[in-house]
Amino acid sequence: MKHDGLKNFSLAILLICSLALTACAPSHEKVHSLTGKTMGTTFNVKFVADGSAAELDKDLLLSDIETRLLEINQLMSTYIEDSELSRLNKAPANTAFTISDETAYVIEEALRLTRLSDGALDITVGPIVNLWGFGPDLKPETVPTETQVAQARALVGPDKFTLQNNQVIKAHQDVYIDLSTIAKGYAVDELAEMLEQRNITNYLVEIGGEMRLSGQKPEAQDWLVAIEKPVSSERAVQRIIHIGDNAIASSGDYRNYVEEAGRRFSHLIDPQTAYPIDHNLVSVSVIAPTCIEADGLATALIVMGFEKGMDLAEREGIAALFITKEGNEFVEYRSNAFSRSVKIMQ
Ligand code: FAD
Repeated sequence: MKHDGLKNFSLAILLICSLALTACAPSHEKVHSLTGKTMGTTFNVKFVADGSAAELDKDLLLSDIETRLLEINQLMSTYIEDSELSRLNKAPANTAFTISDETAYVIEEALRLTRLSDGALDITVGPIVNLWGFGPDLKPETVPTETQVAQARALVGPDKFTLQNNQVIKAHQDVYIDLSTIAKGYAVDELAEMLEQRNITNYLVEIGGEMRLSGQKPEAQDWLVAIEKPVSSERAVQRIIHIGDNAIASSGDYRNYVEEAGRRFSHLIDPQTAYPIDHNLVSVSVIAPTCIEADGLATALIVMGFEKGMDLAEREGIAALFITKEGNEFVEYRSNAFSRSVKIMQ
């Protein structure tokens, strides 16, 4: 079974990049850029500051960003054996395991979106994600059998654990919580918060394609973001948009999949069936005030499929851009909230 170069491509399941970041810099203000690696992908922080003052702080800021990201990884990564989440995942059933306020907040937010999406977003899909080789475990050589899927399915569902006062109790030893779909968004919000605490109000924070923007670039230029065309063969721009002081996250299955006998299996799992999603909705981008919400909603909507996803977006006023594959064409659909709140530049 072939895995399509997961980690390089997971930089941006649906690439959202900033354009013309350093163009037209005025004499005293410029865009500063801090980059590095985290969560199996990269981070990018750009901010506008007066040259002299920012130069002094840049090294310190980068080191604070890296420290903060290490802290979040140490709490919420399933790729680190002794992270808080990994220890929870190994904890015995029916025994209270105490988690930090931060992990509790991220799990609570995920559970809120699970309820909102009628179970489409489900952080207990970990056993199925791992079974298909999309988690930190070794890649399987073949497509899992129905029996294996059914066994993993029995461990999945928001009723398989409780969280109360930072205490998690799992119903079964092998219940496995996977925050991959939402913790990057949380980390983006935390870095944005860190910048704001330093009175930096014009910034762009991005981790693996999930992004939060505030203010403007020098000379009153807007930050613009590009949404990538949902094709795995090349990187091409579908749309260039202006989202104001908001976050944007995307979910898609055209880069991260496994292939067996010419059939593609997505890394996005439908918790109802316990199989990878299999419909013509190929990407969803969501704009929201926080990145944790945008990140979780993008996954929820793509798992739901176009019709149910669009219904939810309209009912809840979610700003979402859906791209479906119809024959050989990509067709774009925008929710009303998206049309109202997002400026299409191209
Ligand atoms: P998204 O659409 O945001 O999320 C999809 C992912 O969510 C799937 O891959 C699956 O894990 C899970 N998922 C699938 N279906 C559902 C569903 N219905 N409901 C809920 N979740 C679902 N990768 C590495 O290679 N090395 C690392 O060291 C590493 N560390 C990480 C640390 C942290 C804290 C986090 C959050 C992630 C880390 N990752 C790491 C994973 C990687 O960066 C991506 O998060 C992952 O590949 C999927 O994110 P995405 O944006 O591509 O997709």
